[in-house]
Amino acid sequence: MAVKEETALGRKRRARRMARELAEIHPDAHCELDHTNALELAVATILSAQTTDVRVNEVTPRLFAKFRTAADYAAADRTELEELLKPTGFFRNKTDSVIKLGQALVERFDGEVPRTLDELVTLPGIGRKTANVILGNAFGVPGITVDTHFSRLVQRWRWTTETDPVKIEHAVGALIDKRDWTMLSHRVIFHGRRVCHARKPACGACTLARECPAYGTGPTDFGTAVKLLKGPRVTELADLAEHYHEAPTSRARSR
Ligand code: SF4
Repeated sequence: MAVKEETALGRKRRARRMARELAEIHPDAHCELDHTNALELAVATILSAQTTDVRVNEVTPRLFAKFRTAADYAAADRTELEELLKPTGFFRNKTDSVIKLGQALVERFDGEVPRTLDELVTLPGIGRKTANVILGNAFGVPGITVDTHFSRLVQRWRWTTETDPVKIEHAVGALIDKRDWTMLSHRVIFHGRRVCHARKPACGACTLARECPAYGTGPTDFGTAVKLLKGPRVTELADLAEHYHEAPTSRARSR
């Protein structure tokens, strides 16, 4: 798709069309870290560094059953905690982070996870990305989570040319309604995990193809591309893509 001459308004409209399409493609998008409250989500997010959400979810049931409050983490037996966190990797650093998080929450916030970005980023182990995950998913405050998938995709889509995560967050925030920020983040990340991979995106099996300036970065042949799809909804994604690539004109007219 040629977007060389795209105006700011044109980009915003295209971004919003793509956001609507993402909602259709990934209706199951959600925060993949299991949690029942803000403290659990904060801890799970710290544990998710350098590992998968699946691995974190294997560890957290036992962890959360034992450590229920910030005070529990603040007073944790380090050896016991390290043993629980071992499967997530880098467990000494992570143990250190969650103990310090518990201490900071007890000392400065009466043991409660604060509800603002400015306060959250003062906590040990909580960067801006984690803070936005907590705000969006535990408190219902719209937040854009810029992780490696999100950065890659919005750059491919030329929603922004920024590379700094904070600047990306602001640039995308200007294109998409605030109330949609949290779900958009999940959907973009799902698309990055399942379709638009870093090395070989499944362009020929992607229903964003006509809006995407990077179409052709991966194989455009449906038969080849469909094998690159990942995740539990491969069949649904393939069906959507087959319909989309077979009937481009009717689909285009319906937009
Ligand atoms: S067309 Fe290709 S590059 Fe564009 S979003 Fe789809 S998979 Fe990614």
